[in-house]
Amino acid sequence: MKRKFSIYYIILSILFFCVGCSNDKPTVSKISSTVLPVSSTIPSKTALVKEDKKTEVNAAKTAPLTKREGGIPVLMYHSIGFEKDNPVRLPVKNLEKQMKYLKDNNYTTLSLDEVYDYFQNNKPIPEKSIVLTFDDGYLDNYTKLYAVMKKYEFKGTIFVITKAINNEKDYLTSKQLKELENNNLSIESHTACHENLSELSYDKQLKTLKNSKEFLEKTLNKKVKYIAYPYGKYNKDTLKAVKEAGYVMAFTTDGKWSDKSDGILTLDRVYVSGFFDMDTFINRVTNPNYEYN
Ligand SMILES: [Zn+2]
Repeated sequence: MKRKFSIYYIILSILFFCVGCSNDKPTVSKISSTVLPVSSTIPSKTALVKEDKKTEVNAAKTAPLTKREGGIPVLMYHSIGFEKDNPVRLPVKNLEKQMKYLKDNNYTTLSLDEVYDYFQNNKPIPEKSIVLTFDDGYLDNYTKLYAVMKKYEFKGTIFVITKAINNEKDYLTSKQLKELENNNLSIESHTACHENLSELSYDKQLKTLKNSKEFLEKTLNKKVKYIAYPYGKYNKDTLKAVKEAGYVMAFTTDGKWSDKSDGILTLDRVYVSGFFDMDTFINRVTNPNYEYN
């Protein structure tokens, strides 16, 4: 079952001509990113975990201020920079304003280990908890985001496309990953080549999930346990393959706050568009049922 949102939603589409992914050569020959306006269908969530999701969405509409029990806003950012008409690049001055709002309003940023302990082991978290995630592993996460996060002493997580690391000029290097990892910006997986997992065989899914994990574990000398699905897409095989590869928690792009009812391998995230004004941002982080149109 595919879910449809009435909201206008824009996603980043990354087109990979990724030699390394098809015949084991370790290079990415070209990565280019384009922004595609996708009118209404967010195809990620299937009936696998949330069969009653449609009912839940309708219920939320009739009770718009009811907070879903125990939900946390897990924010999804991408690039920190400006590009005309590109909503996945958030200008650093806007990021600065958003982080200042969170600081001034006493939010606590959680690491993914803390999120995992909260969902799986009922470990308490502060009431005003929030999670900051950044997808793809853009170079500007080092040149722009890093300083802002340090200034506010916030924690965050970057989900990186591992074949782009050390290979593409607009993406992070291993050296930068290590520095970020040691300074509260934890590095986790976004697959090897940003594949749409729902279109791959089980074996191919397992391969990209394992390859990216192994690369990061070797580079960072730590256990990599978390992943964000490219485009938020996954299928039944993905859920098996992520477990087999050794991940214990995974994120989609579904637009809602995360809560236990999502399932630990299909947690929702709240997309933060570069086009958001502050009122929209505040609504997204304070009201679990706010819909961005
Ligand atoms: Zn991505």
